[in-house]
Amino acid sequence: MTQTHFDVIVLGAGPGGYLAAERLGHAGKKVLLIEEIALGGTCLNVGCIPTKTLLNGAKNYLHAKEAGQFGVDATGVTYDWARMQEWKNQVVAGLVGGVGAAERKAGVKVINARGHFDGPGKVTADGVTYTSDHVIIATGSVPVMPPLPGAADNPAVVDSTGILSLDEVPSRLAVIGGGVIGVEFASLFATLGSEVTVIEMAPEILPFMDDDMAAQLRGAMSNITFELGCKVESLDGASVTYSKDGEHKVLEADVVLMAVGRRSATTGWGAEEAGLEINRGVVVDDRMRTNLPNVWAIGDVTGRSLLAHAAYRMGEIAAANILDPQAHRRGEVMRWHTVPWAVYCLPEAAGVGLTESQAKKEGRDVLVAKVPAQMSGRFIAENGFRAPGSAKIIVDPTTHQVLGVHVLGAYAAEMIWGAQAVLEMELTVEDLRQVVFPHPTVSEVIREAAWAVKL
Ligand code: FAD
Repeated sequence: MTQTHFDVIVLGAGPGGYLAAERLGHAGKKVLLIEEIALGGTCLNVGCIPTKTLLNGAKNYLHAKEAGQFGVDATGVTYDWARMQEWKNQVVAGLVGGVGAAERKAGVKVINARGHFDGPGKVTADGVTYTSDHVIIATGSVPVMPPLPGAADNPAVVDSTGILSLDEVPSRLAVIGGGVIGVEFASLFATLGSEVTVIEMAPEILPFMDDDMAAQLRGAMSNITFELGCKVESLDGASVTYSKDGEHKVLEADVVLMAVGRRSATTGWGAEEAGLEINRGVVVDDRMRTNLPNVWAIGDVTGRSLLAHAAYRMGEIAAANILDPQAHRRGEVMRWHTVPWAVYCLPEAAGVGLTESQAKKEGRDVLVAKVPAQMSGRFIAENGFRAPGSAKIIVDPTTHQVLGVHVLGAYAAEMIWGAQAVLEMELTVEDLRQVVFPHPTVSEVIREAAWAVKL
């Protein structure tokens, strides 16, 4: 007889859902994980992993082309888009398989179906109603398609999923939206030789980044044309009409990437009918509890921080609080302000915490120090004397607590966790100065920034 009662049902198997299920399974809970499309969700199948795999191909190509300055002759270097696609598909398949194996090891029952949330403790999938003590909602997010004239059913327009499997690298690519997804794809295709134009409504790309760092990053991507402060008005095939300072302009492209953002997937699975409170996503507190008893929500569906690592942490927090109602007293709560971000364009950038621009907007006094990445010997050895890169630190002038760290340049995404730990532990800049950094590493720029603060 089919088992229909579980301790926990998890709806959606992206990073949030699959990790929560795994943690609960290992803790001895009977868990049902329901996934409509593929284990790993957006992140593994059409998000973080395929984009970074393709970007790595582009990075290798770029490094080979620029290798002459380091005494390596790689003349005539080419890339093979079809083989890059093959490698991307292999990586995705391997990791998705790994998630399946991890769930089996944790004793989690997985079903491939669309689930419908019928209320606390009740989910229907494939015509079977499953019951449980707890339900975790982890349905993720979907790309936003703005209702622009000419956008619907336009074969020249792709979203972040469609662009991943283009048959060929387009000669001309128009990217609508200068957020993370738009900038990463722009960087990928510009590096592979496309003529890329990014059209962004705001006065600067990457709004969560400090303005000076975003401008420096934009300057570093000199192979991309950025049209800032522009409003796209309509599309006709791959021609994009937009206005800038009251003037109408037309950009002719071969492919248009719509990258204006993502929205939480809160519809079509019963949220509203069941009475879940929703604003920009399912409303949760810092333990990931919703307004309904024993119903939790994690990841992009909460609309709080649309990042895979935030989804992982939310999944862990929900699991910890399900296993132990006192877990929040041990710190198992979401600290949104310490979630780092990273943009894997070439060069990459990453940061955590307060920016100088945010501090200014809030009228908050802060101490700021910014140093060039050339303070690191390894950075120079690997990138040259003039390559763009910097590190910036934001410090409270009274307590000297580190409030933000922002890095631009190679390895930024790899090193930012250290800064995140500093914020998480509420360390001061004096504490950070006592940390021994391995030498030579690019991460030493963070140490240099800490020493550059005038206390
Ligand atoms: P998702 O990964 O979206 O998973 C939700 C799952 O729920 C999906 O598999 C869906 O099929 C399933 N589902 C939905 N409704 C139902 C239902 N009713 N029944 C059954 N199943 C259902 N983040 C980063 O941190 N780093 C990056 O580098 C990065 N790069 C990205 C690049 C791109 C192009 C995109 C699009 C996103 C990127 N992200 C990145 C964001 C990251 O993918 C998401 O933050 C992350 O996947 C969110 O995880 P999640 O578990 O909340 O939801």
